[in-house]
Parts: sequence; structure tokens; C-alpha cells
Amino acid sequence: MSLLLGFLFLLSLHPPRCSAATDTVSLSHALAGSDRLVSNNSKFVLGFFKIDSKNYSYANPNSYLGIWYNKLPMLTPLWSANGENPVVDPVSPELTISSDGNMVILDKATKSIIWSTHVNTTTNDTIAVLLNDGNLVLRSSLNSSMVFWQSFDYLTDNLFANAKIGWNKVTGLNRRLVSRKNSINQAAGLYSLEFDINGIGHLVWNSSVIYWSSGDWNGQFFGSAPEMFGATIPNFTFINNDREVYLIYTLKNEQLKVRAAIDVNGRGLAGVWLEGLQDWLINYRMPLLHCDVYATCGPFTVCNDDNDPFCDCMKGFSIRSPKDWELDDRSGGCMRNTPLNCGITMNKTGLTDKFYNVQSIRLPHNAMNIQTAASKDQCSEVCLSNCSCTAYSYGKGGCSVWHEELYDVRQQSEASANGNGETLYIRLAAIEVQSVEKKKKSRTIIGVAIGAGAAALCLVILLLMCWRKKIWFDRRAENAQGSIGIIAFRYIDLQRATRNFSEKLGGGSFGSVFKGYLSDSVTIAVKRLDGARQGEKQFRAEVNSIGIIQHINLVKLIGFCCEGDKKLLVYEYMPNRSLDVHLFKADDEGLDWNHRYEIAIGVARGLAYLHDSCRDCIIHCDIKPENILLDAYFVPKIADFGMAKVLGREFSHALTTMRGTIGYLAPEWISGTVITSKVDVYSFGMVLFEIISGRRNSSQEYLKDGDHSAYFPMQVARQLLNGGISNLVDAKLNGDANLEEVERVCKVACWCIQDSEFDRPTMGEVVQFLEGLLELKMPPLPRLLNVITGGSNSISLLPIDLK
Ligand code: ADP
Ligand code: MG
Repeated sequence: MSLLLGFLFLLSLHPPRCSAATDTVSLSHALAGSDRLVSNNSKFVLGFFKIDSKNYSYANPNSYLGIWYNKLPMLTPLWSANGENPVVDPVSPELTISSDGNMVILDKATKSIIWSTHVNTTTNDTIAVLLNDGNLVLRSSLNSSMVFWQSFDYLTDNLFANAKIGWNKVTGLNRRLVSRKNSINQAAGLYSLEFDINGIGHLVWNSSVIYWSSGDWNGQFFGSAPEMFGATIPNFTFINNDREVYLIYTLKNEQLKVRAAIDVNGRGLAGVWLEGLQDWLINYRMPLLHCDVYATCGPFTVCNDDNDPFCDCMKGFSIRSPKDWELDDRSGGCMRNTPLNCGITMNKTGLTDKFYNVQSIRLPHNAMNIQTAASKDQCSEVCLSNCSCTAYSYGKGGCSVWHEELYDVRQQSEASANGNGETLYIRLAAIEVQSVEKKKKSRTIIGVAIGAGAAALCLVILLLMCWRKKIWFDRRAENAQGSIGIIAFRYIDLQRATRNFSEKLGGGSFGSVFKGYLSDSVTIAVKRLDGARQGEKQFRAEVNSIGIIQHINLVKLIGFCCEGDKKLLVYEYMPNRSLDVHLFKADDEGLDWNHRYEIAIGVARGLAYLHDSCRDCIIHCDIKPENILLDAYFVPKIADFGMAKVLGREFSHALTTMRGTIGYLAPEWISGTVITSKVDVYSFGMVLFEIISGRRNSSQEYLKDGDHSAYFPMQVARQLLNGGISNLVDAKLNGDANLEEVERVCKVACWCIQDSEFDRPTMGEVVQFLEGLLELKMPPLPRLLNVITGGSNSISLLPIDLK
């Protein structure tokens, strides 16, 4: 199913080495303490493991019998036998074959059974073998087809390649994945991934609430998981007949180490181990947002994906078990600080319960509709009159009340709620409501003070940036996607290809770019990232965005190198360098109008592809002439994805660190709200102005004495209204330009830099406008321009990435 999707990297991995370790447990050969079984191909290991709890403040006394990948620097359990019956310190365990032929875990000292395969074996020669695909089988030593038990029938949270997930309709065996209880405990958690008997996959909470479904199998993929189609690493097979219904995947390259699992938080994931990175690249998640997992924070909580951590207790409630919570098990949720008075008897203060309202939220599940309550007050009374009623809401759908625990409440940001958020009235003991309100008041005062302070701080930071010309902040790039068919280079080869990094093509903010030659006379550009930490993030952002997609207007990533601190990216070489060189630094007329127009359309197409057409939405976040490269025919290629933000397909917006280059930054970056792909539209608009004028928008000529009316985008906006755009065009062109096209570009540019992202067109529309397929209305004057250009001297072209 979709969890197995998107295994994208096809990288060379170390070939397996022969191992002396055995893959078999028999009557005469038990597995004790730290012994290991290793599969014949060296890929999988079976043994007792304990999850390191050093990241937590709790000692972990439990160990488990389990299977994991051999030779990875970090333990990633793929299967465990005795999740519900751990071996607890100081017991020392032993895996052996018991007299009845079963495989058992014994307490070595007392010989008591901790776990057993519990099957009837018909022979007395059983052995346990760890097979090459990670399946642990209990079988006859003489007849390998006499299998009595296999771990693939009792999967835990991970789906192995070649293992079935689904039903045996004859025996009723349901093979499914079940989340683990918490980060160090292998007991079963509340979430599962399973098929129903009709062959539709579901993510399920507590065997009762379905929060994601795969849709029907159409022969190639499940309706809700189109990513399965054309996946590069796994081959999927779905079988539905009288006897069985299941999904299985096989690996196209047996050596790849992959993961397809359901995590502690109830989200499906799929990923592949990258030798080059020495880390998992998780390139598929379902659901993408934590809060889309049912009850992920437990009862009486509010989930908010924009926050870190994303779970919080409702007001008047506290975390029930901080220990579990820290270990990512939030199923206990939160509990009341003060019991409800319940209206039966007035308490000492003479008060009964009250309601506290939470706004802009998605309401809890399982609402009970009260038709008889015709007003908010009546609705409130209905709730108060029933002791088990814990909340009500009165909105478009009338009166709704909830009983007992409240699950799945989600905070919606104003942008995402789009006015659809509702108000929930939560019942609290009166004394709690009073204290919450008191806190709220004092918070407002503190909030105002902090707000003023923060504004002042921002101003200082901005001033500093302009003054110092260089400022770095940590940045965050997220793993979301992998890459197809890119090459992992050795450092030494790139050193040779670039003649020891001798021919520098350009230097940006995060490294230098050098020209190089591959043996088959292919010319390459090698970007060497500086600084271990910055480099790592930049590197991941580029590989995860441009590494997975291809388009004529996006620079092609050929490969990478990742050896320790050395991080390099290898691109196809662009002989005509970057657009800024031709626009701002040319001695002659630079690019003629036709080229400029084609470049504008090409960049628009590349961006439209990034935003809409590829699998996930990628926001480039740093569109500017320096990052637009030109090939031998001046076809533009968008480059430098070091700041790119990959959003899942379902996302339209992100709250992220500020990134980009001053002068091309959309106002929403500056106001600190969520950003969408429209930030690229804005930057693209700014670039269009520069294509028309052949000068930087931030050029000092425009900004003498703080007179912003001369600011080029402002001139264009005004001239469009007054007519007479011809004098706006770059003087270097000597009037040789198609004025109809110039006007079109001017209009598009003005629409792109509208203050409100909703007024800006999408890149798809921009392409159509530029191609003349859609007519454009006259753009209004962008209002915020003045604010952004305010303090003209402060405009610089520094890239920034503020946390
Ligand atoms: P940075 O993150 O350092 O800004 P870029 O990817 O933008 O890195 O590259 C910096 C400069 O190097 C570009 O502006 C361009 O002049 C040059 N450059 C980058 N990639 C190539 C390429 N593929 N071919 C030719 N020149 C390139
Ligand atoms: Mg750059």
C-alpha cells in the first residue's frame, strides 16, 4: 500500500560480505544474551535488543527478541517477538527449541518460558532459520517446506519486502501492522494499518476509528495512493481471490535496505537507507500532518501542527502521564485539574460548572446533535444538565454536545480555517474558568509588552543585517522525498574532475561552484558546500527537491558526494552562467528582448512545475537572477534549491523559517505568517521587473533621497495606469522590443507583487498570461511596496534564512 511508496534512491550499497555467523537455532544450538543470528546474505540480524533510553530521562529495563538490519550504525527494530512480554533486567534470556518443537525464549536461570511460538509441530526436528528476506521460520530441519510458524505471519510495526499484508480468508489470519506503544517499548500501541476483507487498506485507531483509507485497487495503485504507480524501488502486487486478499512488495534491488512502517504516532512511513548519508531518508508519510491522525494527542488535548510539540492540554487539564508523553505515547492525553461539580450540589463558592471557549478549532468526533436546543444558551443548559456532558458547540449545524472524553480537537490557523473554524465550549469546574481567565488577562498585558519588544528586536536585526552584510542563522530543511537515479560520487573523483577545484564558476552564500569534466567529456558544475552544519542542511534540501524531479527549466542534479564533512552536489554545466550576469553586468546590449521574453516564460514554466505538477509542492524560496542559469541556447534553468521547502501534496502552506533574499521577499515573510507557493510568485514578479529594466530593483538610482516613487516596480505600476510603458524598457535595447509583450510582462509583474497572496496569480496562470492565452486586467498599485522599500539604503541582496 501507499506506505511502501516512493522508495526512490537507487544507490550503490556495499555488497554483502560473507559472514561466519549462523542463521539457525536448533536443539543443540541456542541463542543467548548477546549472540546473533545473521541471515545468509548478511542483510538481517536476529538477537536480543534493548532500545537505548539515553535520550530520555527513564532507564529502560526491557529487552526483546527482534530482527533488524545488519551493519547499520543505529538500531532500527523491524520485528519483535515478545513485545508484550519483555525480558526484564536482570534476567538473562535464551532463544532455543523446546522439547515440543516450539521456538521459545527462556529465562536462562529458571528455565521458565517468557515467550513461545505456540504451535503444534508434527516433527521432532524443528529448527528456526532467519531467511534472506528477514523472515524467521520454524521448520523441519529435513524438509524446508514444512513450515510451522513464520514471523511474516505476525508482523509488528514494519512490513518486510516479500511479506503479505492482508487476510487469509480460509484461516481468518489477518496480517497487519500495529504501532509500538512508545519510543522504547515494543508492546502494541493503538494504531494499526490493515486491510478489510474487501481489500481496502485503512489506518485505524484502537480498532475502531478509521482515519485514512487507501481506496480501491485499480490494477496499478490504490485510489488514494497514486504514488504507488511507477515507484522506482518496490514492485507491488495485490491479490484478491477466494482464499486470500493481500498486498505484497518486492525490491527491484535486493541489496536496498528499506522501511515501510507505522510509527508510534500512528503515521505510515516509507524510506530507504542511504549509505552516503548514513541515515534513513524517509520519503513518504501518511498522513502528512500529525493532527490528521485520529486522537494523536489523546483525550482533552488540542493538536496543532504549527507548534512544536504539536500536542497541548486543553485549558484546565494537565498531562496524565508525563513519562509516557515524553516517550511519544500520548494515548493517556490530559486529565482535569479540578473535578466537575456537576451541578448537583453547589460547591462552597456557590458556583457550579462553567464553560471555557476555544476558538478556531476542528470540533471533536462523535458529536450528539440536540435538535431541541434552539439557541446557544439552551445548548449550554442541555450540557450542564447532564453530568457526563463535557462540551458543547453551537454553530451552523445547530447544537452539538459531547459526553465523556473529547478526542481529536485541532487548532486551525486563521489561514487554514478560512473562516471554517468553530468554537467549542469546554466544561470546567467554575474555579478553573476563573483562574484561566485571570491568566488570560495577565497574559494579554505580558503579550503586549513582549510584542513591542519583539518588534524592536526585529528592527534591530534588520538594521544589523544591512550593516554587517552577512548574517547566518540555522536553517531547517526537511526530508520528504528521495531521488531517482542520481549518482553517488567519490570525493576523489570529483576532485579529479574539477582539477582540484581550480576553475571557480561562482560563489554563493553556502559554498562555491566549480567547473569539472566527467570522463565521457560531459561538463559538470560541482557545488562544494562550506561549513559542516549549514552544508548538511543545504545539501539535504537540494537533494530532496531538485534530486527527485526533472524539467527542462530546472537545473539537473546529476549526483552528489557525501563523505564525512565533504558535501558536494553535481549539476549539468550551464555555459551561459546566470541571468544576473546578462542583465546587470553586460557591456553590450546584453540579452535582446526575444531572449528576455523566452527566459521569463521558461522560468514561469519551471516554477509552475515545481508548484503544481510534480508529486509534492516545492517552494523554491530564493528566486532571483543569480539562481536562474542559462544553457547554451539561453534556455533558463532554475537552480539553487538550498532554501527550497518541500510540502506534501495535501499542504498548501507552511510555517517556516524566513528564507530568501532581501529585495525579492514577499511581505508575508516579513509579517511572519504562513507562506505558500505565492512567495515564489512574488519573487518571480520582482525578477520580471529586472528583466524589463535591465537593472536591479534595488538599484540606488531609483532610491535617491528616500523618494520611493522612483522605485522601478512603482514606476511600472503607475505607467501602466497612465499609458506609456515604452520608456520603461532597458535603454540598452535601443527601443528594440515588442511593446505588446512588454506590456504583458509589466502587468504580470505587477500582479505577481500584489501585497495579498490571494491577489497574486498562480505560476500556472502566469504562464498562460505570458503566452497570451489569458487576458490580464489592469493591476492595482501594490500597497506594501513602500513599506518594503522603506529605508532604501537598507536594501541589499543578502540571502537570509532566519529561524
Ligand atoms: P549558492 O547556494 O551558493 O548561491 P548556486 O547554486 O546559486 O549556489 O550557485 C552559485 C553560482 O554558481 C551561480 O550563481 C552560478 O553563477 C554558478 N553556477 C551554479 N551552478 C551552475 C551550473 N550548473 N553551471 C554553471 N554555473 C553554475
Ligand atoms: Mg544562489
